[in-house]
Amino acid sequence: MSDLRQATQLRLGDNLLYPLALREGGVLLIDAGPDIPGDDGQEDSWTSLGIQLGVHGIEVRDVRYALVTHAHLDHAGLAYRWASEGTTVLAGRADVRSLALGQQSRERQRALQFADLARHGCPPEIIEGMRSPRGRHPFGLRWEACPAESLEVAASSYELADGRTLQVIDAPGHTPGNLVAFIPETGALFSGDTILPTTVPTPGMHYPAAVEGDETAPRWPSLPPFIASVAALRELAVERIHPGHGDLVEEPATLFDRFEEHHARRARRVRAALEDGPLGAYGVAKQLFPRIPARRMGQAVTEVLGHLDLLIEGGEAELLERDGGLEARLIA
Ligand SMILES: [Zn+2]
Repeated sequence: MSDLRQATQLRLGDNLLYPLALREGGVLLIDAGPDIPGDDGQEDSWTSLGIQLGVHGIEVRDVRYALVTHAHLDHAGLAYRWASEGTTVLAGRADVRSLALGQQSRERQRALQFADLARHGCPPEIIEGMRSPRGRHPFGLRWEACPAESLEVAASSYELADGRTLQVIDAPGHTPGNLVAFIPETGALFSGDTILPTTVPTPGMHYPAAVEGDETAPRWPSLPPFIASVAALRELAVERIHPGHGDLVEEPATLFDRFEEHHARRARRVRAALEDGPLGAYGVAKQLFPRIPARRMGQAVTEVLGHLDLLIEGGEAELLERDGGLEARLIA
């Protein structure tokens, strides 16, 4: 029997991809990979992926499925390349449309994100800083649209060549259609960015209806389902975590603990910041992170928004309109 701890791991930039042999023949690859252009001496990520697969005796045409854990450019960027090879690109139902749009799915949500940040008190210069092309294409990554005919909603399980089963589990939060994959017989969890050894993944600002073309779409509160998803994964018998970034995790409980403690601490601080009176998400973020550099403020406000969503869902706070903006107020 093969060593259960070892899953073949391919590295593209900061991202890890995992090929798994299928009982029907061929390979399912966890994540499509980032589309990183080559630069002097360094081959582009698609070429590198072909070479790395070859080392494990896998040809590109052997890859029947690329299972994209979530519609972010570093996981989905090469989906269009896989599609051009005849590979079926699998994703969670709520992320399929974003994959079909690529970078445009981000553009469609941009104006709504900026408008919401402004309504929560974010000053124009911070929002302006988030518009920079560099902010939109971290590390020069590209994200081309994936042809819709190559995209499919992932099934709930796939049979593996070693007789085991790969379960695909919806874990909405990091994106609306975020998913993870789990092998119950070995306890291996392929976590994408849902749970990471390198950092506690932050919630984002998602407008699923805007991706479909509705420009008046409301924001999807992502942190409440994110926390529920991670709590549900904790109930599985996870023995080790193969993450989308960072190293293999052999003590999953430490990561689950860290995730829970991080958000519990953050929740207490957000609540405390509101105790002196109503504030927008920006006002809360200023109190929590007084020395944060301006370029990281957008992310900080986004995380605070997630915690306001939690307070509102829990009936502990409500949003008030004030001077055209929004403020959260604790409900006594
Ligand atoms: Zn990622």
